[in-house]
Amino acid sequence: MSHTDSDTHQVDDSQRELEALELASRMERIGRTMLVLSGKGGVGKSTVAANLAMSLAQAGKKVGLLDVDLHGPSIPTILGLDGQRLGPDATGDIAPIHINENLSVVSVGLLLDRAAEAVIWRGPMKYNVIRQFLKDVQWGRLDYLVVDSPPGTGDEPLAVAQLVGKGAWAVVVTTPQDVAISDVRRSVSFCKTLHLRVAGIIENMSGLVCPHCGQQVDLFKVGGGERLATEMDVPFLGRIPLDPGIVASGDSGKPFVESVADSPAARAFAAAVEPILDQNEQDESLDSVRGPSVTDTRKEQAEQ
Ligand code: ADP
Repeated sequence: MSHTDSDTHQVDDSQRELEALELASRMERIGRTMLVLSGKGGVGKSTVAANLAMSLAQAGKKVGLLDVDLHGPSIPTILGLDGQRLGPDATGDIAPIHINENLSVVSVGLLLDRAAEAVIWRGPMKYNVIRQFLKDVQWGRLDYLVVDSPPGTGDEPLAVAQLVGKGAWAVVVTTPQDVAISDVRRSVSFCKTLHLRVAGIIENMSGLVCPHCGQQVDLFKVGGGERLATEMDVPFLGRIPLDPGIVASGDSGKPFVESVADSPAARAFAAAVEPILDQNEQDESLDSVRGPSVTDTRKEQAEQ
């Protein structure tokens, strides 16, 4: 008996349903997904993502860091994982790399070899790769999944927002200059359109802590991130100063907040996660009195 088009469609549909259920059951074990966004490259988005993840882990939370920057993954370098490769676990899922007992990492850069890096990823391929990451990584139970996506509001952050669904939050990274600020407006509008809650804006490279006298020198105009947060009615998570130690730790592959714990920048990272932890706690206690949880919503989405 030959297969008809309708047989093929049915197989496709049931495969899609199965994948949606697998994704939903994986996401059920993840408390809060947080996308780290920036309007443009070079503002320190990956640095902030890695150090926020590390600060949340230091606050005792179970954290996964997922790098979906398909064209320029930099998390492996920042965390000293260059040359390592992800492998399957006993069940065939992707096993993350454990940085310490609270932090595990998966990056597209830990899967690609040089030949594959030349691949031109187009929209639907990106969506499928990201879905596979979200569905197939064996994180275990996580309080937070921090996702580093490429700059801008392109396919990758869009895919994550669509796949994770209603419960995802975003942290927007900017530098203090006006030109960067106008890019952030676009990131915040992107979040609003996709119903991603903006957990807050971080102003990175904001002033320089003088290595000699310890005084803060404001090289560029500062405070733009905070003004914008007020104007757009989203929380401001703080200013991370320029710190030569961040470049050195990025090059040496040790997350900054771990290698230079007692510095103004490391303290700023630790302070930036406080409002995130507070918002999440409030949200969870509201959810428990409000009824259907994020998880229920995801199940509904998977069943549709
Ligand atoms: P993006 O992900 O936005 O492209 P990166 O996180 O890769 O940016 O950072 C770009 C460069 O800036 C890196 O060399 C990084 O070490 C450096 N950097 C980021 N934030 C700071 C900071 N607060 N102080 C000093 N250097 C920083």
